[in-house]
Amino acid sequence: MSALVLGHMNPDTDSIVSAIAAADLYSKRGFSVAPAAQGEPTPETEFVLRKFGLTAPRVVKDVAGKELWLVDYSDLPQAPAGMDSATILGIVDHHKLGDVTTSTPLEAWIWPVGCTNTVLKNMYDFYGVEIPKNIAGAMLCAILSDTVIFKSPTCTEADKKAVDALAKAAGVTDVKALGMEMFKVKSAVEGASMKDLVFRDYKDFDMGGKKVGIGQLEVVDLSILANVKDGLYEEIRKVKGEGRHSVFLLLTDIMKEGSEMLIVSDDPSVVERAFAVKPDGKSVWLPGVMSRKKQVVPNFEKAFK
Ligand code: MN
Ligand code: MN
Repeated sequence: MSALVLGHMNPDTDSIVSAIAAADLYSKRGFSVAPAAQGEPTPETEFVLRKFGLTAPRVVKDVAGKELWLVDYSDLPQAPAGMDSATILGIVDHHKLGDVTTSTPLEAWIWPVGCTNTVLKNMYDFYGVEIPKNIAGAMLCAILSDTVIFKSPTCTEADKKAVDALAKAAGVTDVKALGMEMFKVKSAVEGASMKDLVFRDYKDFDMGGKKVGIGQLEVVDLSILANVKDGLYEEIRKVKGEGRHSVFLLLTDIMKEGSEMLIVSDDPSVVERAFAVKPDGKSVWLPGVMSRKKQVVPNFEKAFK
């Protein structure tokens, strides 16, 4: 039985490409592994896979009894069913350390950088394994996606350095143009249901014992979302109704570099405590806020304490 390399729930481009790249690297190191994902690729990820001729990993929703390598997360709310009887062999990640535990020693590569694929690029170098051209291209896109083309405060020099090297390996000459092409695909909302949009990039967190959901949609211009905003609000009200204290949806304008946050909460004053701004009814504009991980989750964690 081969081990699975598996990213987080509601997989983004980083989770899916990390699984593909890590599975390539681990198999070249002699492990028997296969990439997997907890869901189908988003339109952005589909674009990346198509562009570089890769296939989406198979969808796995239960890992009972399996051996796992985790990529792009290490917390249980992002994990699939059956984790308690799975064996975690390793973690490659760039988030805060989560709450998974292991019964055996593991290989962990967790770096404070903008993208799991930046860590993986350095792992390829460490093990002296050459990155296949198509995987290099997809890894490059994952870094551009997670760092919002270097604009996110999560972006580090290591991410930029990895992008330079991966662009050379993949034969990509205009990295920013590729990034914008990808974000235009990501911005498209036609044909997607409100539920699809809310869960496209959505995570549940445990904050001071309360279940809090935070979703994010990144677009090249907020006007793209004008016609769906009311529908999105209705949808997060439903999601909150499924036993959550709060649900927040970040509508991020990557050109204006800020986010409008839609708010549904049992205690909306947490938003004021977290960001020192007074919400205007259902939403608030947060200038400069691009990163859920670095600018939103830590603030809410403090506010919920
Ligand atoms: Mn991710
Ligand atoms: Mn990531």
